[in-house]
Amino acid sequence: TFRALVIDKAEDSQSVAFRDLSQSDLPDHDVLVEIAYSTLNYKDGLAVSGKGRIARRLPMVAGIDLAGTVVESRSPDWKEGDKVVVNGWGLSETEWGGYSRFQRLKPEWLTRLPDAFTPMQAMAIGTAGYTAALCVDALEDWGRIQPGEGEVLVTGAAGGVGSVAISLLAARGYKVTAATGRPETHDYLSGLGASAFIGREELAAKAGPLQKERWTGGVDAVGSTTLVNALAQTMRGGAIACCGLAGGADLPGTVLPHILRSVALIGVDSVMAPQDQRNRAWERLARDLDLNKLEAITQVEPLSKIQDLANEIIDGHVRGRVVIDVAG
Ligand code: NAP
Repeated sequence: TFRALVIDKAEDSQSVAFRDLSQSDLPDHDVLVEIAYSTLNYKDGLAVSGKGRIARRLPMVAGIDLAGTVVESRSPDWKEGDKVVVNGWGLSETEWGGYSRFQRLKPEWLTRLPDAFTPMQAMAIGTAGYTAALCVDALEDWGRIQPGEGEVLVTGAAGGVGSVAISLLAARGYKVTAATGRPETHDYLSGLGASAFIGREELAAKAGPLQKERWTGGVDAVGSTTLVNALAQTMRGGAIACCGLAGGADLPGTVLPHILRSVALIGVDSVMAPQDQRNRAWERLARDLDLNKLEAITQVEPLSKIQDLANEIIDGHVRGRVVIDVAG
């Protein structure tokens, strides 16, 4: 048997507990993976702390990411020994996820681990980092934002998405302004490539629909008034790639930045992103992410501490990325 973190029905809510499973308990999917590491993302925090209803089928093995090695495959696409990474695809929502030593998965959910990364490094990136890469891809696809021309904004800067977005943008030559509520992270964020800072509260207060144009573009992990202000401060023809709701899921703004300045709001969903977008994002990470910087933003924690860590990420106390050792 092996240990997994299982969300299950409780009287009027959901329970979260470690449970011993055997391989015959796993779903009947075609590829069996021995998991080396998983991660802690904001959504994992919501699922494990019970502060968000992420699991939509119970019982559910939590963990939206995993990296490991194929040990058995009924699919021609994968063979024993292949190193793989899985991000999203409904893991921890409708499909059993990565907080376990083993998992059975559909072949089409697996992405080949880039040679550049070990399974631990892939999980240091995790959904948060891979989503940051999708956001930067989205900004470059918009086609009107040039590195070296003006500043791009990254909100939720000291979090997982923000930290990796800063590193990736700086690597391409963008001048990055980091919006953070934690001034004590400024040195850390400078080390990743941020060249200027603004306070989280500056963007959180309600302000006019068209403000002074400051950003050529941006990556937003916060949502709500922060995103509305980011759009209201974006220069003509710029774009904000939005992926998160750490500050709220509402969008209390106006159409004015869009219809008077041709500003674009580009939505980014990592969970169901098609495989070609995933491969491209992982290629960007392999090319542009400095492994020393990755190490600097990462802490490794045992699965046994997951419940405390889940509360920490929801309370905004986690800096950078947390890798989860599923054997720990
Ligand atoms: P994270 O590590 O907790 O980072 C979130 C950051 O947002 C925090 O570090 C904090 O940054 C800031 N923040 C937290 N609470 C805030 C508040 N009340 N108001 C304003 N800012 C606040 O989480 P993550 O894993 O990077 O994920 C970030 C967001 O992206 C989450 O909402 C997550 O659900 C979302 N996400 C979406 C996708 C997708 O597919 N669309 C994929 C991954 C993540 P500072 O301390 O620097 O201020």
